Amino acid sequence: MKKIAIIGSGAYGSYAANLINETHPDWEVHIYEVGDEKIKEQDAIGLCSEIVGSPYEALTKGRYFGFGGATAKWGGQILTFSDNDFKNPNQYQKEIVELNKKYKQNIFRKFGIENNYPEERLTDGMFTKTGVWLNYFSRNLFKKFKVSTYKNVTLHPHYRACKILFDGRCVTGFEAINDGKKILVNSYDQYFLATGAFETSRILIMSGVQDKSGVEFSDHIVKKVYRIKNGTKIGPVDFRFLIKKFSFITTRIIGERDGTSFFLYPVFNSKFPFFKNLKQFLFGKKSLAIVGAILKDIPSCIIFAWQFFIMHKLYVYKNEWYLCLHLENQKGNSKIMLSKMMDKFGQPGLAIDFHIDKETENRFNILSDEFEKYLKEWGVNYERLHEKVHTEKFEDEYHPFGIYSDFTSIDEYFNQFENMIVIHSGVLPRAGGINSTAAAFPLLEEFIRNRMV
Ligand SMILES: Cc1cc2nc3c(=O)[nH]c(=O)nc-3n(C[C@H](O)[C@H](O)[C@H](O)COP(=O)(O)OP(=O)(O)OC[C@H]3O[C@@H](n4cnc5c(N)ncnc54)[C@H](O)[C@@H]3O)c2cc1C
Repeated sequence: MKKIAIIGSGAYGSYAANLINETHPDWEVHIYEVGDEKIKEQDAIGLCSEIVGSPYEALTKGRYFGFGGATAKWGGQILTFSDNDFKNPNQYQKEIVELNKKYKQNIFRKFGIENNYPEERLTDGMFTKTGVWLNYFSRNLFKKFKVSTYKNVTLHPHYRACKILFDGRCVTGFEAINDGKKILVNSYDQYFLATGAFETSRILIMSGVQDKSGVEFSDHIVKKVYRIKNGTKIGPVDFRFLIKKFSFITTRIIGERDGTSFFLYPVFNSKFPFFKNLKQFLFGKKSLAIVGAILKDIPSCIIFAWQFFIMHKLYVYKNEWYLCLHLENQKGNSKIMLSKMMDKFGQPGLAIDFHIDKETENRFNILSDEFEKYLKEWGVNYERLHEKVHTEKFEDEYHPFGIYSDFTSIDEYFNQFENMIVIHSGVLPRAGGINSTAAAFPLLEEFIRNRMV
């Protein structure tokens, strides 16, 4: 019997609770969570952050608090790494890839969808990868996994963890603020620190584990590079989403140059009023005007519904769409620090210094030119666009990586603390060419199944 504290109930907290419930239902699990059932943005929950340098809205607008965390609002694209993703992985990355291969089907089984689509090798080291974009009602992982119904789980809402206490390698407990009072939470055998990439870094800086002068990180950056005007096929690859159990099956092209990954991924229907309004209705402010606009678009909706329910593929409005180039920002360009601003809990907020340098802009242009050659070769009808590189559309671009990842092996990562695992997307040294959240689930799989004895 073990007594376990999970701090944070987002993607990784929920996944860990689900896996422990499946493998060790006799273990006693306590989940400490700053929020509750109502998902809130950082200002509403009482946290604060500031951006220095380029806009990076993932931090200010892309963090969500409460049971389910950011998965209450995320896209829910599930992808994992394979041997194709990194040309020269270090030992730690190699082992992450091995764990991704080992547990890939476990992950997809949890979401009730198989992903056996093979990756196809293309020209110039590029390859295709298929992902599953979860249907809207399966996205909040705390709800999807029904964590609140587990008999072995006790929920502790409104506990804001502030500091981890440890003596050398063993965690003795953590300080939390509950109802305005500082409380010591201790006497657990094992801790999971799963409070999101940025807040976890803040806690580890406050605890003296990570560097107070700044912790490096990176993320994907993006721009719309081509408007495609004749169907969804580009050479040998059909980008059109297929529909399986109300989820989308998506395809992308991934490549790597000079140790930096990029991927080409479609944006469909951004000008389709029905889609825009539906998105506004689902993710933004709901109003009667939006409902009215959705109803007005009924004819297009019928075609959309026919293709969705009968043909099991996505309708593409006016047969026009965008192909976006996503690229890992150079490491060393961005830092996480403590801010001088104090939040509602009396704790220092976060300051993020995010930069996109000239070299990265150049790399974008070179890659865009290179890919344009293939568009010509494959007879694609396209228009080249000249948007600035950005991270402002954070829906697609919130995959922080390389934060707590300077390990020589997976063993070193698992053994940083005798009785605590730190888990967020930033434990991955690279995000590669994928939306990377699911690529860290295998670390939890291995840890809970084989390392927690
Ligand atoms: C709009 C959007 C779309 C995205 N789409 C995708 C996608 O399609 N695919 C993909 O792979 N990734 C996507 N992401 C990224 C993905 O959501 C995150 O990688 C993932 O949610 C991170 O999981 P986490 O458990 O580390 O953090 P979170 O899910 O943010 O969970 C952290 C939890 O900890 C709690 N918490 C925070 N601080 C404290 C504290 N001090 N004390 C106690 N509790 C605390 C929070 O309330 C929350 O419940 C998207 C993100 C956004 C914002």
